[in-house]
Amino acid sequence: MTVKHDLELVDVTKRYGPNVAVDAIQHRFQPSSYTCLLGPSGCGKSSTLRMIAGHESVTEGSILLSGRDISDLPPARRGTAMMFQNYALFPHLSVRDNIAFSLKMKGVEPKERHTKAGEMLELVDLTILADRLPDQLSGGQQQRVALARALITRPEVLLLDEPLSALDPFLRIRMRGELKKLQKELGISFIHVTHGQDEALALADEIVVMNDAVIEQAGPARDVFNAPKTRFVAQFMGGHNVIALPNGCFAIRTDAVTVTAPKKGTLDAQVTAVEYQGTHVSLLSRISGDQEVTAMVPEAIYFTNPHHPGDQIGLHWDAKNLHQLTA
Ligand code: ADP
Ligand code: MG
Repeated sequence: MTVKHDLELVDVTKRYGPNVAVDAIQHRFQPSSYTCLLGPSGCGKSSTLRMIAGHESVTEGSILLSGRDISDLPPARRGTAMMFQNYALFPHLSVRDNIAFSLKMKGVEPKERHTKAGEMLELVDLTILADRLPDQLSGGQQQRVALARALITRPEVLLLDEPLSALDPFLRIRMRGELKKLQKELGISFIHVTHGQDEALALADEIVVMNDAVIEQAGPARDVFNAPKTRFVAQFMGGHNVIALPNGCFAIRTDAVTVTAPKKGTLDAQVTAVEYQGTHVSLLSRISGDQEVTAMVPEAIYFTNPHHPGDQIGLHWDAKNLHQLTA
């Protein structure tokens, strides 16, 4: 049976001089699951990850792993391992020696190092490339070496900082599938930092959305996408309109807005732009208060009764699809 390790952040703050990069965040990560820390550049994601890894000190607060305070332990003694954005491989060491490096540092005998590196090579499917140097590998292969090198320490939590950002779009999609599969196979927790909402949705069991040094919302990926609590989350996750109505500010999914001729029970709108997007047509219109609303209309439905810029239309949605925003 896999032991479930609980990682918890208790009022964790990071200050660089007078600047607050992470402001008293609280979170308990789901054990054995894939979590994405999502947010725009500069919001404090890497600082949070580096504090968990022990590569950055915690200014205030504490980090608990399985109930034990790890805040002051050196990185190698925390039960965490980090995979870096640029992979940070040693150019003069073979793939096998790169993977075994941390064991060598710990004074593990060559024979045991070799065996363990062999297991990791199998795990990431690089056995036949074991004797190559990093610059003789593709980007995707280098990434798998970096992954194996982090996993050889048998961490309870693997930390990944924008691990896919150096890859081309095609490889990025393939590698995210491999990361997800690996996490399920190993049963340990992965905490993956990204600024891409599509990447977070594709990978995460749980998404933690950060903005401006705080956690805006956290929860299962579908909950965060379907029921954003703040304007920021609705806009950052995409696929939503944020509309101010007389009774408050609401988010509504763009694919939950239906378009008809203007009639009783619909909201009057004027089409401002139409964009064909293959499976859907994005129809932008303006409602009263100079607000813009996007409707994602399935393309077959759109073309049975196409609307054009300048047309008057009626917008409609099911009230149950409106999510009231708190900020
Ligand atoms: P993210 O990973 O979300 O882009 P970071 O955690 O890297 O954000 O940075 C958060 C804030 O802290 C930013 O304003 C950044 O400029 C600042 N920062 C990050 N690292 C340092 C550092 N070593 N020294 C001073 N300021 C830093
Ligand atoms: Mg970062």
